[in-house]
Amino acid sequence: MSRQRFAADRVLAAYPRTLATLSRRQLLKIVGMAGAAAIADPLVSSGLLAQPVFGDYPFTLGVASGDPLPTGIVLWTRLAPRPLDGGGMPMRDVEVRWEIARDDRFTTIVQRGTTLARPELGHSVHVEVDGLEPARGYFYRFMAGSEVSQTGRTKTAPAPGAAIDRLRFAVCGCSHYEVGHFTALGHLADEDFDFIFHTGDYIYEYRADGGRDETRVRQHHGDEIYTVVDYRNRYAQYKMDRHLAEAHRSAPFIVTWDDHEVDNNYAGTHDEHGTPAELFLLRRAAAYQAYYESMPLRASSIPSGPNMQLYRRMQFGSLIDLSVLDTRQFRSPQACGDGSHTGCAEADQPSRTILGDAQERWLFQNLADTRATWTLLGQQVPTFARDAAGLAPEARFSMDKWDGYTASRQRLYSRLTETAAPNPIVLSGDVHMHYGSDLKADFRNPASRTVGVEFTNSSITSNGDGSDTQLGWDRLKVDNPHITYHGARRGYVACTATPKSMRAEFRSVDRVTVPDAPIRTTGSLVVEAGRPGSHLV
Ligand code: FE
Ligand code: CA
Repeated sequence: MSRQRFAADRVLAAYPRTLATLSRRQLLKIVGMAGAAAIADPLVSSGLLAQPVFGDYPFTLGVASGDPLPTGIVLWTRLAPRPLDGGGMPMRDVEVRWEIARDDRFTTIVQRGTTLARPELGHSVHVEVDGLEPARGYFYRFMAGSEVSQTGRTKTAPAPGAAIDRLRFAVCGCSHYEVGHFTALGHLADEDFDFIFHTGDYIYEYRADGGRDETRVRQHHGDEIYTVVDYRNRYAQYKMDRHLAEAHRSAPFIVTWDDHEVDNNYAGTHDEHGTPAELFLLRRAAAYQAYYESMPLRASSIPSGPNMQLYRRMQFGSLIDLSVLDTRQFRSPQACGDGSHTGCAEADQPSRTILGDAQERWLFQNLADTRATWTLLGQQVPTFARDAAGLAPEARFSMDKWDGYTASRQRLYSRLTETAAPNPIVLSGDVHMHYGSDLKADFRNPASRTVGVEFTNSSITSNGDGSDTQLGWDRLKVDNPHITYHGARRGYVACTATPKSMRAEFRSVDRVTVPDAPIRTTGSLVVEAGRPGSHLV
């Protein structure tokens, strides 16, 4: 059987109803004209080293880069000519070429190469480029067949120990597609960040019109997501949002997940519905695989069944040492059945963990040997106490946050003190509220030692338009004197680190239920190196 004959048979087998009545010659003509099939067999179109021919544009999900190293970066894309329908690629390896250049016209290409988009990974590609120059901006793009992707901009980290004047990074998360426009991500893309830290809830798993009862501006595609194809389609729907695509094109992302990448408020092997662990882990495996496929992560994060290595460490010269944490995969189930409680003794049990033993040991070692000016902990749920004593005396603390894992928090804060890790800054999201908070050795005692500062980004859209202040804020600020800033609109945090200070600007949009709202800075906090605590400027 000739190669052409074999290839045509493959296409016929894939499209029996529409094409089975055509002759092989007619079929080859259709394929050659980029007709009925989303992609033709590479061998059909022009022999041995032929390029694939796409019926529909394959780079619908844009491009991304991530996890910068001093000489390396991850470049990402996924071929998906039919993005909401599993991707629309044939079940075979497809060659993808990549280029990285000094300029956006690609006149000075510094490296190029070829990789395979494989069906096992939903035809995603993760190129780990090495041999680049530290602290340098680059442009990159992909090609498959005669199709060319959008161009992304990225940047490597500074050389180890290099003295640098300043780094700028954004902190964002919680983008529920249905409840708003990702306008804030468009504004974020217009800034010039060295990296963008994502605190999780990149997608929401709910069915169309599912989840909480909020105003909706658009609709999820399909039912609640369970299979790897479901999760792929959901990431695809989100990635087709132009503002999210712009954000990825603007700078490298450093991502971690929270709960909604799998299921609301899941904890380790437990979902919120009491599904048997061995069944929930099947769903978790599907969700983790699609997460890996959809993010600019290194091969070290390729999942193994329901397990995935997401916690990792990155360094930015002498300025920043970043530990990226995973507070979902290894945590104990929420205490007292989740929700918010007062006096839940279980929440304080020393045996409970939000990081798991191995990650905690790893983090505690990082804290002992970091030498950078700023010790960053990039993670999901707030570590600082949010006490609703005056507003909800029977439900003071949310069990899904570090408030429900107080022994873990105490171990972390004690470790920060004992190691004297320089200038700890915790990043978090999840609660759909901008917060700046001082981290206290004992939150019940405002006079206790300040061990660090936390910046919490509000959501990109989740909870809708919002308002200037949180309901009951007058009372909350009395009960939580450690909170130095709060804002209840949607947005992100823009941070500037220098050897002397860390500045957090809380960016907010007034509306997400209408497009194109302008961005403004609703508050700014400064932390001075060597002086624990944050103050408004
Ligand atoms: Fe969220
Ligand atoms: Ca969350």
